[in-house]
Amino acid sequence: MSTINNNNQNNNLKLVTDDSYTALLRGNSQWVDLKLQEDSEYFHNLAKGQSPKVLWIGCADSRVPANEVTGTKPGEVFVHRNIANVVVHTDMNMLSVLDYAVNVLKVKHVIVAGHYGCGGVAAAMGNKQFGVIDNWLRHIKDVYRLHSKELDAIEDIQARTNRLVELNVSEQVYNVCKTTIIQNAWMERHDLEVHGWVIDLNTGLVKDMKISNSSPHNLGYVYELDSVAVAAH
Ligand code: ZN
Repeated sequence: MSTINNNNQNNNLKLVTDDSYTALLRGNSQWVDLKLQEDSEYFHNLAKGQSPKVLWIGCADSRVPANEVTGTKPGEVFVHRNIANVVVHTDMNMLSVLDYAVNVLKVKHVIVAGHYGCGGVAAAMGNKQFGVIDNWLRHIKDVYRLHSKELDAIEDIQARTNRLVELNVSEQVYNVCKTTIIQNAWMERHDLEVHGWVIDLNTGLVKDMKISNSSPHNLGYVYELDSVAVAAH
């Protein structure tokens, strides 16, 4: 065991770090300096705790960072990101983030944020294999199948991909709403809304898909759940 550790230490010592790595540490140092110039108590206050009003479920794409896109500061947005902003009901990571955000942090808004030019959505429209990710992207192929009549009628491939980005956001908003976490929260409070956004990388602007939801009543009969107390009788 100690031999393995020693080898790791030796390997670390031999690391050749290019500028893209060292730039991060320089950037951090500059950021800390800037923040302290603005407010000498900044980190002291940041360390006290968080009370964000928003949960962001976005794409892992490096071009769509939640705080930058919305002009918010650290502490204001709780964030979950994965490839192509997919909400899968068996994803313990997503469920844990959603449960903590809704039931402990008591966020008032859950935003599913997709973006045009999404590589995950584009890959899901094709047949090429990329690896394990293909199993994840299959959820988006399901979205395509649900809306294949509309999508197949769009001849321009770019326009069709853009529409699938929008429809994927729409379906993932529904998936958030279908969770027991959101439905149980709606039984107790009326200040929790779920929204769908698409970010346009060419302009930076957000398109609100206007599919905001704060009630289980339009999920469809089979998805709407009784309260646990009612179901027990
Ligand atoms: Zn993406």
